[in-house]
Amino acid sequence: MSGFEEVNYYFRKAARVMDLSANVERMLITPYREVKVDVSVTLDNGELGTFIGYRVQHDKSRGPMKGGLRYHPTVDLDEALGLASLMTWKTAVVNLPYGGAKGGIAVDPARLSPRELERVTRRFVEQIHDIIGPHTDIPAPDVNTNAQVMAWIMDEYSKFHGFSPAVVTGKPVDLFGSKGREEATGRGAVFALEEYLADAGAGEVRGKTFAVQGFGNVGSWACRFLHERGGKVVAVADSRGGVRNPEGLDVPALVEHARRARTVTGFPGSDPISNEALLVLDVDVLVPAALGGVLTRANARDVRARIVLEAANAPTTPEADELLAARGVAVLPDIWVNAGGVTVSYFEWAQNIQQFTWEEDKINAELRRHMREAYATLARVARERKVSFRTAAFVVAIGRVGRATVLRGV
Ligand code: NAD
Repeated sequence: MSGFEEVNYYFRKAARVMDLSANVERMLITPYREVKVDVSVTLDNGELGTFIGYRVQHDKSRGPMKGGLRYHPTVDLDEALGLASLMTWKTAVVNLPYGGAKGGIAVDPARLSPRELERVTRRFVEQIHDIIGPHTDIPAPDVNTNAQVMAWIMDEYSKFHGFSPAVVTGKPVDLFGSKGREEATGRGAVFALEEYLADAGAGEVRGKTFAVQGFGNVGSWACRFLHERGGKVVAVADSRGGVRNPEGLDVPALVEHARRARTVTGFPGSDPISNEALLVLDVDVLVPAALGGVLTRANARDVRARIVLEAANAPTTPEADELLAARGVAVLPDIWVNAGGVTVSYFEWAQNIQQFTWEEDKINAELRRHMREAYATLARVARERKVSFRTAAFVVAIGRVGRATVLRGV
């Protein structure tokens, strides 16, 4: 299945529980707009670099569309379609006044100089500035994009439309970004886990063991919050490989090592571990926090964790999802678990529009409230309808998007 088909598989599973008609299903699945643009720039050596950029706007019935920008060689229209539709369901699960979008550029940013990266970003904005905007579509960071990239986006967009900090979130705090945004996805994922553990009577983070795939924004912050709470992070991996220490990795020291070495590999006091081995390690909680499609039919039977905390987007293929469910593994779904990022992005946007700033305590308290309320609703639906958390999350989201669509009038 393609990425978009995978999301629609989960959508249809929930739609069946809700008795949605085929026409309504088709209408809710169909994206509002798909855009593919040329992002050619002059490289530092004077040659022409040609790249393709994408922005898919999936649904706008509940507000401006919202979703990240990914810079990665695998970015294509299908990936953007899948991730954009996930954003529609995610913003609805946490009840934010947004629709869903996603995009990016098919490029390996590690091969670009900082100036080239800036030119590519500005060129992309030049190509899409007329379809994004504070009340239309608001990008944010995703894989291989960060606060600096968001700052360039804000600056370039403002050249066309006047000063517009609210056109993009995840900006540097010195440039109208929000306190707590950088940490928000990792923090939200840990809040999500705490909600589930409390409800399931499964204890707390303290003393539990964790394997985390991905040590970028989401994975590294999740590790820090788990470590702070007494969780034992026993293995971590990134695109170059992984490290393991059964006694628990020293997370603050690992963060420092990864900052300097640009990889977790080679961390003193640890043994190497492959990404494949990390996914099937004997731990309490597995945290995929890198790319999608890592838990598959091939490895789902071997997963030994009892809880999968989906910090990444779409880490579990539908076949793996069924296999994990059959084995009683609690899969806490991406559209709730990693919604902390878009939730604090919403706070950032609201602050920009009001030209007012919130203190970090307020941001974190509101983030917890959103994660908690979302869990209360989806856990109730899961119990009432006897469905998985993922199907319950889709039922909640489809209900909200569907009602908004119908009320606005087709
Ligand atoms: P990032 O670029 O900061 O980090 C990505 C990490 O994944 C890096 O450590 C990288 O080395 C690792 N990685 C890449 N390819 C890998 C591979 N093949 N095997 C193992 N590791 C690999 O990106 P991020 O923002 O942390 O995003 C991670 C995931 O979380 C993505 O699925 C993204 O869509 C999702 N997400 C991010 C946010 C956010 O706020 N940044 C919000 C919601 C969801």
